[in-house]
This record gives sequence, structure tokens and C-alpha cells, in this order.
Amino acid sequence: MKSLTGKTALVTGAGSGLGKDIVLLLAREGASVGVADIHLPAAEEVAGIIRQSGGEALAISMDVSDEKQTEAGTAALVSQFGSIDILVSNAGIQIVSPVHDYALSDWRKMMAIHLDGAFLNTRAALKHMYAQQTGGTIIYIGSVHSHEASPLKSAYVTAKHGLLGLAKVVAVEGAAHQVRANVVCPGFVETPLVKKQIPEQARELGMTEEEVVKNIMLAGTVDGEFTASFDIAQTVLFFAAFPSAALTGQSITVSHGWGMR
Ligand code: NAD
Repeated sequence: MKSLTGKTALVTGAGSGLGKDIVLLLAREGASVGVADIHLPAAEEVAGIIRQSGGEALAISMDVSDEKQTEAGTAALVSQFGSIDILVSNAGIQIVSPVHDYALSDWRKMMAIHLDGAFLNTRAALKHMYAQQTGGTIIYIGSVHSHEASPLKSAYVTAKHGLLGLAKVVAVEGAAHQVRANVVCPGFVETPLVKKQIPEQARELGMTEEEVVKNIMLAGTVDGEFTASFDIAQTVLFFAAFPSAALTGQSITVSHGWGMR
């Protein structure tokens, strides 16, 4: 039997990058999945891939920073598949700029997507998880930047640190309802989000793109390698399938060693 047979999972930002590989793996492991993204055609494409290979998937149009859309998206998933057992709060963006120059509108956008989004999806999921009395698990996609700082990323580092606090509170409050919460902290993965940053950082820091990759992004790894999105999906699956509250309120870094020192 597959490890998630009979479970229902919602993954946000699942139309691209890490979210896409996470939702594909959870579906392969037997979960019925909600593929939520602000970009509906991307979510529909991923849901189509899952259905073609025999899985069950619902594409959900959702801006994670919108209260109504998060509530409605979660309710649609529960109405279609009967429960929500796993939430993967993954949707995110990046805006790089030095702190002294960081636009308030950009700061607010970062907080709205990363923190309001995680909170709103958590609240929407918990209502169902508590009511269904079979518990559940919430996995936040943090970052090495949940533990470390880098230049130009004040809002991102602040938001990703904040997810650790949210996960700990959900772990404490959720325990009585068999709800667990954990954070997966990836190193750099070559997704559209990261590919966009390379020329931006090169411009800001006066370096070539090769220097940004070698001297900034991968400098702290043990082997100069990017992390693969499948490595992140496997770690999410490990948390999703873990059978007890022995593992709750924790974060695990998956980064080729970046951040361990
Ligand atoms: P990505 O740009 O490839 O995918 C992000 C997805 O989120 C896209 O499909 C986008 O449409 C969606 N999205 C954006 N804003 C949204 C919103 N308001 N509501 C719903 N969906 C929205 O990015 P990625 O690299 O796969 O990043 C996914 C998560 O992983 C982010 O939280 C990011 O911070 C985190 N992360 C990524 C890396 C990396 O190296 N790629 C490293 C550490 C953490």
C-alpha cells in the first residue's frame, strides 16, 4: 500500500517549481490532492498530469493572501474528497533589494504572500482538521533563510524566520487535536523563483551571474551543488507520512550542508 492512501492534501503554489514536484509525489503516494495556485492554468495542467496517471486531483484558483479564496479553496477540496489531512503551505515569491531601499509596498507584498498566506491556509485547514477528529499535518516550506541571513533579502528572511514561530504554535495548539506542524527548509533549488534572482543579484552586487551562483548561492554547501526539488518533495513526504506527534514543531534543512555550521 502507498504511504498516503486515503489521505487528502492541499499544496499551495503547486503550479510550478517545488510545489509542483511536491504535489506530484504526494499524488503518486496515493493522496487525493488540491493543486492550488494563483495562476489557474498552471494548476489545471498539473492536476491534469495527476489524473492522467490515475490519481485524483482538483485544480484550485487561490491567491494565498486572500481570506475568502483560502477559505473557499479549502472548502472545495473537502467537499470533493471528504477531508483535508495534509496542508503544504508552499506558495512564495522573492523580491530582492537592500534594506535602505526596500519599498514598503514590496515588503507588504512579501508579508502578505509568505506570512498572511501561511496563516490563512493554516486557519482554513485547522477548522476542518479539528472538526473531522482524525488530526492532520501541516508542512511549511521555509528556507535556509529561516535560520540564516543573506544580503538583499530582508523581507524574505524575516518572513521565513516567522514560519518557524507559526509552526511551533500550531504544534502546541494542535497537539490536543492530533495535528502536527513542521517546516522544511530548502537550500537553493533551480526553480523559476531562483533563476529570476541570479541576474537581479548580479546587477545589485556588481558580479557576473556565474559568480552569484558560485560565491553566493552555493558557497555554503559541502559540494557546490544545487538542491533538487525532488529532495524537497521527499522530505515533505517524510513529514506527511510520519505516524506520530514525536515529530512536531521542528524544522529540517535540506541544502547540501548550507547552514549547518
Ligand atoms: P516558483 O516561482 O517556481 O513557484 C511558486 C508558485 O507559487 C508559482 O506557481 C506561483 O504562481 C505561485 N504563487 C505566487 N504567488 C502566489 C499567491 N499569492 N497565491 C498562490 N500562489 C502563488 O517558486 P519555488 O522556487 O518553487 O518556491 C516555492 C517555495 O519554496 C517558496 O515559498 C520559496 O520561498 C521556497 N523556497 C524556494 C527555494 C528555491 O531555491 N527555489 C529555496 C528555499 C525556499
